[in-house]
Amino acid sequence: MNKRYLVALDQGTTSSRAVIFTAEGRMLGAAAQEFKQYYPNPGWVEHDPGDILATQIESLRTVVRQTGIHPSEIAAIGITNQRETTVLWDRKTGKWLHNAIVWQCRRTASYVEKLVQQGYSETIREKTGLVPDAYFSGTKLQWLLDALDARQRAEKGELCFGTIDSFLAWNMVKGHPHVTDATNAARTMLFNIHTQQWDDELLKMMDIPRALLPEVVDSSYVIGMLDDDILGVPIPVAAMAGDQHAALFGQACFEKGMAKNTYGTGCFMLMNAGEEFKLSENGLLTTVAWRLNGKPTYALEGSVFMGGATIQWLRDEMKFVEKASQSEALATSVADTDGVYLVPAFTGLGAPHWSMYARGTLFGMTRGTGRAQIVRAGLESIAYQSNDLYQAMARDLGSAPGVLRVDGGATANDFLMQFQADISNTSIQRPAVLETTALGVALLAGLAVGVYSDLKETASGWHVEKKFVPSMDDSERRQRLHGWKRAVDAVLYWARDDME
Ligand code: ADP
Repeated sequence: MNKRYLVALDQGTTSSRAVIFTAEGRMLGAAAQEFKQYYPNPGWVEHDPGDILATQIESLRTVVRQTGIHPSEIAAIGITNQRETTVLWDRKTGKWLHNAIVWQCRRTASYVEKLVQQGYSETIREKTGLVPDAYFSGTKLQWLLDALDARQRAEKGELCFGTIDSFLAWNMVKGHPHVTDATNAARTMLFNIHTQQWDDELLKMMDIPRALLPEVVDSSYVIGMLDDDILGVPIPVAAMAGDQHAALFGQACFEKGMAKNTYGTGCFMLMNAGEEFKLSENGLLTTVAWRLNGKPTYALEGSVFMGGATIQWLRDEMKFVEKASQSEALATSVADTDGVYLVPAFTGLGAPHWSMYARGTLFGMTRGTGRAQIVRAGLESIAYQSNDLYQAMARDLGSAPGVLRVDGGATANDFLMQFQADISNTSIQRPAVLETTALGVALLAGLAVGVYSDLKETASGWHVEKKFVPSMDDSERRQRLHGWKRAVDAVLYWARDDME
């Protein structure tokens, strides 16, 4: 039978999804299943690995059933996943020793503080491209080994560590391969992204025995065949990539300087940084965009904590709109914000400002300020924050890239997209398929099994649905950006509480 379909397993933080695409990149169907979040202590977040596996397999079976395709028509499957989330399991029985520690979990903040106090920050940054943080897998694994007193068993090779890609591959692919791909490895704080190897110095820093680490493979690579029990036929599992990396690929950002921004609850921006490692001088992370034929392409990464969540706040707390989508009509009911700026630093400011203690602030109100101006300022703040990342990336690469590709729920807002184009002075491209994460890993899988002969061919299915070109004149842009900068500076000033 003709093998014309590609399947993405998109294992996210709140749900497991499966998406079927045609080889031309058209979406045929999707199915999702949510699973439970566990919060055993303040700031702690866990998932049950059994739930992750069961919901992932169920969503795969459901989408195949709903679309009515025959499993033997699937050319390849790719896995994309919530990053950094850490699982530890028994190599013999496959049984996990503990719930998965989720990327959001802050339980290892004190482990990270210790690494910083010991003076390891620079080494970590230079080797991994990351800033030491509890977000990454390394200290989560260290915590598991401590809490379960499992280091000896780990040393004997009785245990396996994996991020979610690795855990799914081990459980869904025949023969239980213990692998991860370079993009996921790059988020562990244990992987040297120059040498593309687990790094002895980093392993020693976090007291991690090498024997429990997975083999690191390319992002587009046939790991093995899907277990027959799952769909009744063997299918090559041929790609793995962290969700943001897959989205960059799904947006066909193959040239240095091309970037994508995902406008969800938060915003995630990644820019292709080429084949030379580049340590950011502007507070961004460096990561592996993907690895093909043993060769990594690097990316710069930054995130906005309050993206679409700013609109949720205006909706749920301020009650200025009933639905997020109403924000557009309200914002465009006025000509501008009348000098109002909202800096939604509710949980601090991330790259490139990095202030943990910054807090949300509204500037420039007059007696005439109403909810329209404030909602407009809220939407604009998403674009200003994204622009701060974008300009920082451009400074790091020493060039103005000129095009930004977008996805995520808030890209439905045309006002936001146009304002982003205006304020960043760059053309914004919104693609027809907004499922770029799933598409990206499906394309990577197709590339591994020969559905596509090269990178260029994978991009043939990428189409612009709408383009937004800058139309603001330079002086206005400069003036508005100046206002935003003053607002952020004032927020940073406020965050520096210098009372003795
Ligand atoms: P996530 O994957 O993080 O849950 P989504 O990609 O589903 O996020 O996007 C949802 C976010 O986008 C919400 O924070 C919501 O407030 C925002 N959003 C959705 N539609 C609009 C819109 N038309 N205008 C502005 N914000 C929107």
